[in-house]
Amino acid sequence: MSYAIMALIGTRHVHTIDGLEGMGFFMKQMLVEINRGAPAAGQLTDILKEYQTGKYKTILFHIFSGIADEAGLVQLAREIEQFFGTKLIAGTMSAGEIKDGRMIEPGVLVSAILFERSDISILRIDGVKGNEIAIGKRVREALDAVPDLKAAELMFPGTEADTEHMYAEISRCRKDIDIFGGYPGGHRLNSPEHFIFDGTGAMYDTMLVITYAGKDLHFDMDKSIGWISLGMPFKVTRAEGKHLIELDGKPAAEVYEKFLQIDRKKHNNAEEAFEFPLMAVQNGEERLRSVVHIEEDGSFWLHGFVKEGMNIHLTYGDPTNIVSIVNERLEAMRGFKPQVILLYSCVVRKTFWEDFVDMEMKPFANLCSTCGFHTWGEILRNSRTGELDENNITLLSIGMREGDAPAEDLPEVKVDDTVLQGQASVLRRLTRLVSTTMEELQKAHSRLTYLAERDALTGIYNRGKIEHLIDKALRSGGTASLVMVDLDFFKRVNDRNGHDIGDSVLREIAAIFQDSVRGYPGAQIGRWGGEEFFILLPQVDEEKAVAFAEALRRTVDEHVFPAVGHLTISQGVITVHNYQEQKRVYIQVDDALYKAKEAGRNRVEQAPSLFGGK
Ligand code: GH3
Ligand code: MG
Ligand code: MG
Repeated sequence: MSYAIMALIGTRHVHTIDGLEGMGFFMKQMLVEINRGAPAAGQLTDILKEYQTGKYKTILFHIFSGIADEAGLVQLAREIEQFFGTKLIAGTMSAGEIKDGRMIEPGVLVSAILFERSDISILRIDGVKGNEIAIGKRVREALDAVPDLKAAELMFPGTEADTEHMYAEISRCRKDIDIFGGYPGGHRLNSPEHFIFDGTGAMYDTMLVITYAGKDLHFDMDKSIGWISLGMPFKVTRAEGKHLIELDGKPAAEVYEKFLQIDRKKHNNAEEAFEFPLMAVQNGEERLRSVVHIEEDGSFWLHGFVKEGMNIHLTYGDPTNIVSIVNERLEAMRGFKPQVILLYSCVVRKTFWEDFVDMEMKPFANLCSTCGFHTWGEILRNSRTGELDENNITLLSIGMREGDAPAEDLPEVKVDDTVLQGQASVLRRLTRLVSTTMEELQKAHSRLTYLAERDALTGIYNRGKIEHLIDKALRSGGTASLVMVDLDFFKRVNDRNGHDIGDSVLREIAAIFQDSVRGYPGAQIGRWGGEEFFILLPQVDEEKAVAFAEALRRTVDEHVFPAVGHLTISQGVITVHNYQEQKRVYIQVDDALYKAKEAGRNRVEQAPSLFGGK
């Protein structure tokens, strides 16, 4: 919408819903959607009047702007400063301004929170990028120093900072301090307007820390997600902060290409990937991550950090589930009896809901005055672990209250999803179809992988797989031993008892091998062909390898095979130190096995050890 049209419509509103009165005092929020065609002061007089009643100790301003007019916004902040004689003003670019639980046309929304008893301050820290750890420490120390601190709000462009390490530092602050916040960003995807602002200017690399302190101040904050993970977990095999490089050893984008046909080379690929965020799971904690950008090399830039070893799932938004999760949160919030609510909701939720974006936010406004913005990343301290988490796709609801909760209950509030019925059921069925199809695909895939690697008769690894594992072990350097086993006079078993009995003996012997490697970490067994087997023993030296083979020889020698009786095996053993070419190893160990046969069978022969390069 052009400024001129906005001026014409005259979007000036002052809106107040009084919160419940607690023990004689309470906080209050007033909201004004600024008409940018007129001076701001005139539009804030109702707030000023309220502030001047003398009831209030402090006033705190938030400005949520969907319009990236740096000069105009700084000017607005300055006018508020002068008009109210306060510096407690924090502004942020927004991807959707939320007023009374509804998203308004892109505009400038001013929230004034008036406190009767509490102490608010804003700490400003410049030069975040590159100094994250030091700044994390500074913030922690600052928070720990504020008496009766109940909550802190972080406002800063976090999408490009090393938040992982900074948050780890901040997380060490006093455990009872709640921390929340949202990252600034504009309405457009890939918009460069990730700034915050106050009366001094627009800031792209500064953190504002708003501290909320007071004996009578109470917070209740939580995140709601509702997205559901699709069956397949992928392991993060390479990542650096917010740069997700590989999943399961392959470029991360392959996951999207394979399952969602989202092409990494397509210009607007991230927009499509947006609809299917990733869920990172570590120690049972779920963190959603949306994809900001897909590189041609197939790596992702995410809105939040990931760590190697994390499991990653594709997710999808299921409207019914989202609604029920938000309803749970509404019920908890109602029980808290808030006087002011802030909603910091992910821009992905806005994209997901499209025309229905207000649905999950409106009911909060039925509890008390509710405002906020759509963010490019949500910050919330995990009350269980104390860890400061960076989130995507979440709806953060921050309830505040001054004084004790009054006795009377707030009205029941629920998401009104009647409007969704028709559309949601189709979507629900489709998402269900996607998820079951993926699960079946996953099962088929793991079954095929299993079959491709296994020997059909014995169930142990086949030649291709054991060769691959041996090669991998040899390449990884260090020490490893290899045992080659051949059954003695096995032809006779077949000749005397038939092929079927021969088969059952092979299965039985494979089971004996499997038992034998218990207590050998990383040991692998494969059928080389016919009645020849390989046993790979990583980190096992000459002495232990020979002892292993001897023990195995004895076990088999003493074993009674039903219908066959006693059998023996011959073994060649080799130990390799550092990298060796596979072929040489095989020739040597085969040689040793041949010697064992020559020397009378039921024996172990050791090949000379091989010492590779590095
Ligand atoms: P030795 O190794 O002691 O010199 O004598 P051997 O009789 O074991 O030697 P050889 O390698 O000549 O014979 C191996 C026999 O293993 C040949 C074949 O009948 C049998 N064999 C190979 N694969 C299978 C299989 O899958 N099932 C059955 N039942 N027998 C197999
Ligand atoms: Mg044999
Ligand atoms: Mg043989």
